[in-house]
Amino acid sequence: MPVANDYYGILGVRRDAGPDEIKKAYRRLARELHPDVNPDPQLQERFKEVTQAYEVLSDPEKRQMYDLGADPYAQRAGAGGFGAAGFPFSDLMDAFFGAGAAPRGPRSRARRGRNATIRVDLDLSECAFGTTRELVVDTAVVCPTCSGEGSAPGTHPVTCDVCNGRGEISQVTRSFIGQMMTSRPCPACGGFGTVIRKPCPECDADGRVRTRRTIKVRIPAGVEDGTHIQLAGEGEVGPGGGPPGDLFLEIVQRPHPIFERQGDDLHCTVTIPMVAAALGATLQVETLDGPAELDIRPGTQSGHAIPMYGQGTERLNSSGRGDLIIHVTVETPSKLEPEQEELLRQLAKLRGEEAPPGKFAPGQQGFFSRLRDAFNGR
Ligand SMILES: [Zn+2]
Ligand SMILES: [Zn+2]
Repeated sequence: MPVANDYYGILGVRRDAGPDEIKKAYRRLARELHPDVNPDPQLQERFKEVTQAYEVLSDPEKRQMYDLGADPYAQRAGAGGFGAAGFPFSDLMDAFFGAGAAPRGPRSRARRGRNATIRVDLDLSECAFGTTRELVVDTAVVCPTCSGEGSAPGTHPVTCDVCNGRGEISQVTRSFIGQMMTSRPCPACGGFGTVIRKPCPECDADGRVRTRRTIKVRIPAGVEDGTHIQLAGEGEVGPGGGPPGDLFLEIVQRPHPIFERQGDDLHCTVTIPMVAAALGATLQVETLDGPAELDIRPGTQSGHAIPMYGQGTERLNSSGRGDLIIHVTVETPSKLEPEQEELLRQLAKLRGEEAPPGKFAPGQQGFFSRLRDAFNGR
């Protein structure tokens, strides 16, 4: 007795199971184990076993031989027991295409769904600190009427008469090098091995229906313009009840009236009066966290950049925050009151700079406080 695989056990059917029962068992297992549905390598091994079992038990001739104690796969694996003459079909394939060219079997109707991308517009502070959004997505879900099978309620896809469920049609042709075997997908069933005689009225045999779905997504802190967030399995389901694709969110950051973002840092420009730059001042500035005080040191020049550490955006996928960089522009007054003009002339004189003569010549005492008062409107 040769070493044989327990094909009835693998498919989970009794030894007297009819062809329909075998088909049904195979379909149920294939749906669960097909590599398109479940890429786990261990399950793929089982899928091969199940497909082998089905190939043997679904073919009356092979099944009869198997029942008599012959197993084509046990023989091929070197376990012996079955004569090569029993399977001219497979042997011919092997002779021309190598041992790997065993019949490929029908292709599954179930295919993975497509990925989808949707655009999400966010304010700068939402990008900086993260947010939660409810998004409405147009997508495809498994058809509730046929559960993805594609056939009308109460019916199932039936084995294709043209290819006998193999999904392909093989032809032996003679050529100058001998006999050649060619295979092509079965035109009657499109290579599926089964035919849907009565399509599901809701999905028209596609196995899925379009719908609109609301999903709640958490957008992490630190995203920026152009960031893509992958939501695995949130795309549309595939045809024939195949697994869903992924949904990608593409972040679009709305421009901010004050801040310009560069990486995790923010930049803004503050214009201060000449006197504040010369004498120093404390300013109220806007930050992402609200108003804050900024010290301008005496003698600050136009174009000077003052960092406010840790006041930028949060860093994506890491801790800490960028900085806020304040760029100072010093505003030179374009119109001077007579007293202001006199004080500036006096200042120029004190610094030994060339200046036109003025009528007003105050003492050096209290000069800076009077300068400040003059520009503050007192
Ligand atoms: Zn349907
Ligand atoms: Zn066919």
